[in-house]
Order: sequence, then structure tokens, then C-alpha cells
Amino acid sequence: MARRAEIVGGGFAGLAAACALAQRGWRVRLHERADRLRTAGAGINIYENGLRVLEALGALEETLADNARHLVRETRDQHARLLSTHPWHIRVYGVLRQRMIDALAASAQRAGVEIVLGSSGVSASPAGELLLASGERLRADLIVAADGVNSSLRDSLGLVRLRRYLPDGAIRVLIPKLDEREATDGRTIEYWSGSRRFLYNPCSRSYLYLALTMLHRDAAARAAPVDKNLWKATFPPLAPLIERIGDIARYDRFEYIRLERWSAGHVAVIGDAAHAIPPNIGQGAGCAMMNALSMAVFLERGDDIPAQLAAWERAERPLTNHTQRISLLFGMPAFWPPKLRELFYRLAARSRWLAAQRTRTARHVPTGT
Ligand SMILES: Cc1cc2nc3c(=O)[nH]c(=O)nc-3n(C[C@H](O)[C@H](O)[C@H](O)COP(=O)(O)OP(=O)(O)OC[C@H]3O[C@@H](n4cnc5c(N)ncnc54)[C@H](O)[C@@H]3O)c2cc1C
Repeated sequence: MARRAEIVGGGFAGLAAACALAQRGWRVRLHERADRLRTAGAGINIYENGLRVLEALGALEETLADNARHLVRETRDQHARLLSTHPWHIRVYGVLRQRMIDALAASAQRAGVEIVLGSSGVSASPAGELLLASGERLRADLIVAADGVNSSLRDSLGLVRLRRYLPDGAIRVLIPKLDEREATDGRTIEYWSGSRRFLYNPCSRSYLYLALTMLHRDAAARAAPVDKNLWKATFPPLAPLIERIGDIARYDRFEYIRLERWSAGHVAVIGDAAHAIPPNIGQGAGCAMMNALSMAVFLERGDDIPAQLAAWERAERPLTNHTQRISLLFGMPAFWPPKLRELFYRLAARSRWLAAQRTRTARHVPTGT
């Protein structure tokens, strides 16, 4: 008889796990507490590793239906002077988050996943019991906690080794392009001014995705809607672009999470619930989807679920740990004096070692692809 999985959380991690398990013969039910599958955060960048996973899950074509391919990443100062250039030798795309969620959901449904909306998970036990907010208790061979950074399932198992807020956060917005020819030269640009950053990132034929990063204590800069006068004064050459920002904006503080273990008995923890990563190298969703797929691959290799989950963690976690460390490193210049920051970016542009560390996750060939 098919093994049964109950997944809690319908973000990138939960949907990727749902696809990967159902495609391997599992009977899968996914619980999402919201009344529809939606995602906040405007756009997202997906690198070669994430693209390979989307392809293996049957969601690549739809995700890239309206994409913006990135060829070069530039770092510039507040006067738009170039500090460093990084040409991509791998595929990198900016996409609309909602498009990627819809693509994964469509693929999950094609594979027979039952998606239950308005259903909240509360806790899980290592024996494989899931408690829902409705009071219902469900038993399964596998429970997957993919309920994001504030995961109640993870907390019910006491798995957190380290959870901390980082000193910075970001406001993310989408703005309509002026026309289809705007921003089609394949560049993403991150501008720096003190501890404030401005990411200019095309993400579809019709939209630009902007991420405004600042210290959490910089209350004026993190106010939403965006204080346009403040940001125009911070990045004068970007004034016409900043003027186009609308009232819909969202601020999120960055977090960092490490667990004692990624599983407890028959419960696996994936995505931000297991390893929230600051977005400095854009790999949170990439790692979430890689680990979701590799979990399903490891579970296919044996019947002893706790043992297979432990083997999965041993094999896959070192790359996620590396991603977390490098992502923290590339956020640190926000706290350095401008001269030191400039030096770091010039070094980062020249150092093959640093470039290799930064792109190691993106260049990784994920298990199951
Ligand atoms: C500013 C910023 C920029 C980023 N840029 C990138 C990028 O360019 N590339 C990249 O790869 N990553 C990026 N990330 C990281 C990425 O967004 C996350 O790693 C990813 O969204 C995590 O997916 P998830 O499915 O684990 O969690 P979430 O996306 O948080 O999904 C969790 C889901 O679970 C649901 N849920 C929560 N609790 C319950 C419950 N109790 N019961 C049922 N459902 C529940 C939620 O409603 C939600 O749908 C960025 C993050 C930030 C903050």
C-alpha cells in the first residue's frame, strides 16, 4: 500500500515536497492555513540549482513563462559608481513569486496531491501524529513541517538549537515596467549607501522587483509605505525609479535558524522552518526546494523512515550550512565603514575563491535532478 504523508505549509518547501513525494508514489495531503496558496515578497531569484529542482518537479516551464534572465550582477555605490561586476556562467532568473507557487501547485495537483486550504497544523509527534487546529488528529508514515520561519510543528518538537533575528531586514515591492523594453539588458544591480541597500531586479516582462534593505533600527528607512523622499536622498541617481514605487510594500526582518536535527522520528522539518537564511545570496527557496526533493529521494531508498531521514540530513545539510555561513558573510559589509565595504566588494570581484564560495550552492547539482 502507498505510504501516506501529511505536509503542513503550502510555500515553496511544502509544495516541492508534495510534488516530489507524490511523484514517487506517496499519498500526499498538504495543509495550508491561508484560504488560498499565495506568497508575499514580490519577486525572487532562482539559480541553476533551483531551476534543476523545478524541472525535476515538472514546474520549470510554467515558472519561467514570463521570466527575466539575469546575465550580470553589479554592485554600485550611492552615486551609481561601479564597485564590482559578476557575470553569471550559470542560469539565473528573476521570477514573480506567485507564478512559481502556482506552477508548483499545478504540478502537485497533477501528481495527485490533495491540497486542503484553511487547515492549520499545531503540533506533531515523532510517532507520526499530526494535530490540526480543528482538533483533528491524523496519523501518517511521514509528517513534513514546512510551515515557515515561525513553524509551530518544529517548536512542538523542541528542535531549535539557534534562532536569532539579524540586525537587518528588507522592504520588497513590485513596480510595473514603463514598457517591455525597460531593463532587458540582463543586469541586476545592488546599490549601497551606508547600511542601506537598493536592489534593482527585473522579474518578468511586466514588472521590476525592488528590495530596499536597511538596519532594523533604521525605523525611517523601514517604514512602509516607502518614504520616497528619504530613499531619493539616499540614492539620488535612482530618484525617478523611487518615485514610481506605490503604496503596497512589505517589511521583513531577516532571521537565522539552525536546528539540532532536521527530523524527529517520522517528522521532517524543511525550508525556512529548518534553516532560515538571510537573503544576501538568494538561496533560501533554492535550499528549501533542494532539501524537499532530496528528502523524497532518500525516503525512496528504504522503508525505515527515521533512518532514511537521518541519512538525508547527513548528506544534504553540509551544503545548507555552507549557504547560511556565506550568506551571513555577504550581509556583513552593511555594518562596516564605507571604505572597508568598497574594499570588500573590489576583492569579492577579483577573488576566485570568494566567487566560488558564493556560487557553490547555485552550481551544485541537486540530488534527484
Ligand atoms: C527579502 C528576502 C528576499 C529573498 N530572496 C530570495 C531569493 O531571491 N531567492 C531565494 O531562493 N530565496 C529568497 N528568499 C528566501 C525565501 O523567500 C524563503 O527561504 C522561502 O520563501 C521559504 O519557503 P518556505 O516554504 O520554507 O516558507 P514560507 O514561504 O514561509 O511558507 C510557509 C507556508 O506555510 C504556511 N503556514 C505557516 N504556518 C502554518 C500552519 N501552522 N499550518 C498550515 N500552514 C502554515 C504559510 O501560510 C505559508 O504558506 C528571500 C527572503 C527574503 C526575506
